[in-house]
Amino acid sequence: MDKVQLLYEGKAKKVYSTMKGDVCVVSYKDDATAFNGEKRGIITGKGEVNNRMSNMMFQLLEKYGVTTHYVEQLNARETLVKSVDIVPLEVIVRNVAAGSFCKRFGVQEGTILKSSTLEYCLKDDNLGDPMINTSQILALELATQEELTKMAEIAAKVNQVLTEYLDKINVRLIDFKIELGRYKGDIILADEISPDTCRFWDKQTNKKLDKDRFRRDLGEVEEVYHEMLDRIIHS
Ligand code: UDP
Repeated sequence: MDKVQLLYEGKAKKVYSTMKGDVCVVSYKDDATAFNGEKRGIITGKGEVNNRMSNMMFQLLEKYGVTTHYVEQLNARETLVKSVDIVPLEVIVRNVAAGSFCKRFGVQEGTILKSSTLEYCLKDDNLGDPMINTSQILALELATQEELTKMAEIAAKVNQVLTEYLDKINVRLIDFKIELGRYKGDIILADEISPDTCRFWDKQTNKKLDKDRFRRDLGEVEEVYHEMLDRIIHS
């Protein structure tokens, strides 16, 4: 399927229209940003890793009954996806305290949470993606109660399936962010699942295998993206 027109360029991906209205092409970039775009860089090979890994995760999730936007990988960094209307919310699930959760609540990084948490952020770069609660989401008509229920169900299923799968390749799923889209009257999983959007720690050593290596200048950035993909390919 050929790309027709650039519809949208984000920090990590470009989206193109195609000749068919119900599918579009996502092209993953090597550009990396952190802290709401304040820190910028290039992670060589990231686009290809995130494309391939996201597609493998979407195919795994489909097997477990989660409907995703994935249609077909086109080449190393491009994938055909269903053309969804993105719900302007980031849905974040946490199993272990890290990142903004530690800062906000004064909890030590690595603290295992007694139960997983679910939080929402409004997707708005100008506002710095502020946290938003369900009553605020309903009041602002960003999603309906029915949609919120479906989104929470999908988030819980993704957490369960990915946690179990990653454990087999010696990776702890610390937390992750997903985005959902409206498609033909349904809510389906969209965006990506990659070291850009999840925190992955090695099960034995707790070595960080995700974008925190870029955020915090920990080194071996390209290496850990490739390591995650290698572990998945060889699983
Ligand atoms: N995350 C993301 N995009 C964002 C914000 C967060 O993909 O704009 C992911 C992040 O990689 C982590 C999880 O969501 O896996 C929780 O992130 P957190 O709220 O701790 O924010 P951060 O510390 O990344 O600013």
